[in-house]
Amino acid sequence: MKIIIFGAQGSGKGTQANLLSARFGLAHIDTGAMLRDEVKKGTKFGLKIKNHMEKGGFVPDGTVSKLIERRLSSPDCKNGFVLDGFPRSLEQVKELKRMSFIDFVVELRIDDKIAMYRLSNRRQCTKCGLIYGLAIKSKKTGVCDSCGGKLVKRADDTPAAIKKRLSLYHKETEPLMRFYKKKNIVKFVDAAQTVEKVFDAIVMLLHK
Ligand code: AMP
Repeated sequence: MKIIIFGAQGSGKGTQANLLSARFGLAHIDTGAMLRDEVKKGTKFGLKIKNHMEKGGFVPDGTVSKLIERRLSSPDCKNGFVLDGFPRSLEQVKELKRMSFIDFVVELRIDDKIAMYRLSNRRQCTKCGLIYGLAIKSKKTGVCDSCGGKLVKRADDTPAAIKKRLSLYHKETEPLMRFYKKKNIVKFVDAAQTVEKVFDAIVMLLHK
């Protein structure tokens, strides 16, 4: 299965992509995490994209596409994948069309106010990347249950950057759905529900 998961920031797309990856043995391609990794490593490439990311803007299309193309050619993607955070622009849709066939597109729908509230309360483990928030709280404040890593607020989870990211999603990414709707492969899910309910709804739609 080759799936794209779409949804505004705060819709829980990363969490659902993780669950789908575990349930169906798919590679989870988390574009934002791959880019954050480059920034963390302090590579020349990382330094180039840091500013775009912290302000909540897009990293240039060509750069992201190259990264994804390389990732899609790795052996763990042979059994299928769930693409999280790519494509985000028309140019990226065109690039992806050249790279791979897509079976399903899942769109998580969420109100901006709920998304904003969720993101403002989000913390991420600096070691294993696990996400905590209103629905999933760590047992010990600021410490990851899974690996003991430190939980921090993401650099782009500031009110200004969240606003910019949501606005870019509506302006640039949401319209891409038109392209996939024409192919009749889009499944819509209400993302205001609990993590479990959203996941069950996705699985049910994929089985239909
Ligand atoms: P995310 O973790 O999906 O919220 O992504 C974090 C940030 O990484 C975004 O706000 C962008 O700056 C950058 N980014 C992630 N995916 C893409 C993409 N497909 N195209 C351009 N920039 C991206």
